[in-house]
Amino acid sequence: MENSIPMVDLHGQYLKIKADIDSALQQVIDSSVFIGGPAVQDFSAHLADYLGDTHVVTCANGTDALQLALMALDLHRGDEVIVPAFTYVASAEVIALLGLTPVLVDVDPATFNVSADAVAEAITPRTRAVIPVHLFGQSCDMEPLLYHCNDRHLYVVEDNAQAIGADYTFSDGHTAKTGTMGTIGCTSFFPSKNLGCYGDGGALYTADTAFAERIRMAANHGQRVKYHHDIIGCNSRLDAMQAAVLDVKLRHLDEYNTARRAAARRYTSALGDIDGLVCPTEMPFSTHVYHQYTLRIADHRRDQLKDWLAGHGIPSMIYYPLPLHRQAAFQGLCRIGGDLTTAERLADEVLSLPMHTELAPDQQDRIIDTIIQFFKTH
Ligand SMILES: *Cc1c(COP(=O)(O)O)cnc(C)c1O
Repeated sequence: MENSIPMVDLHGQYLKIKADIDSALQQVIDSSVFIGGPAVQDFSAHLADYLGDTHVVTCANGTDALQLALMALDLHRGDEVIVPAFTYVASAEVIALLGLTPVLVDVDPATFNVSADAVAEAITPRTRAVIPVHLFGQSCDMEPLLYHCNDRHLYVVEDNAQAIGADYTFSDGHTAKTGTMGTIGCTSFFPSKNLGCYGDGGALYTADTAFAERIRMAANHGQRVKYHHDIIGCNSRLDAMQAAVLDVKLRHLDEYNTARRAAARRYTSALGDIDGLVCPTEMPFSTHVYHQYTLRIADHRRDQLKDWLAGHGIPSMIYYPLPLHRQAAFQGLCRIGGDLTTAERLADEVLSLPMHTELAPDQQDRIIDTIIQFFKTH
């Protein structure tokens, strides 16, 4: 059996920065400041610098980040929040958890992302916020979306868990980092994300000082002054060990995203002409940082290809096999905001290939050859 190819290679990535990571972790242990303290402050400041003019509030994970964002906004039970039907469950779960109504809208088949039109059609007098998800590493088309949302006074909470480091270009040529264009941006530092720690972690960013303050309060038991609780909050914090790891890895984020883009280019140039398979589309308005490299395989051959790859020692993943309106948990809790046929089709067609910063050309050649063989013989 040939060497197996991993979906992600966190160990290989660690070995290249081992000296810096080990000493950063040792410093935290020596200081014995495990919660808050300089490691968290330094990382928050460096992330704010990286993103531009924004406040950064760290928290325990990406799901908490989304929940805290909604808690910080002025929302009430029954208010509607628009979210794509094709996404990771966390984007919509927090809406329902807070007693708000998720309104599910369809996505664009080329980008997997929500369009301004789909959002505009789903807006009602009860709509208060929209959660665009920059899925798989590419920005939603934010300019028309922001136009609609500003026009209707809707909050925009960007789910940036998969696209940290991507740039969106507006029609006048200026660019912005994903997550910094809406009211609040949310990130996950789950180990396999583009900027991942060695456990759980998350962050929110906002240019609005008052929202930053409310997020901090919500994440810290609703207190501004210790033991004085103004609102019902929760306990969600990034610990110092994770912040120390992230501070080292943030310095490599652009280089990591460049490596992902290079691997994606290699896949697309080898697979782009195969009939029955569609490679990811890069839109002119966004850099794509390839959290996932996701193919579309039509004609009910996706599962066959997945099995074929597995038989040749190559992993692949289906992100996501069920759109949210087909999930048991959301029955009766969400509103369908339009036709969702693209979300349904994508759930049947998508297949993500191994994609990470350490992917070697010879590994990619094996994956590519195995896919070519499949389409020759099926
Ligand atoms: C990973 C992810 C989250 C949640 O992040 P956790 O840190 O796992 O809680 C939310 N939204 C999207 C799109 C994600 O990919």
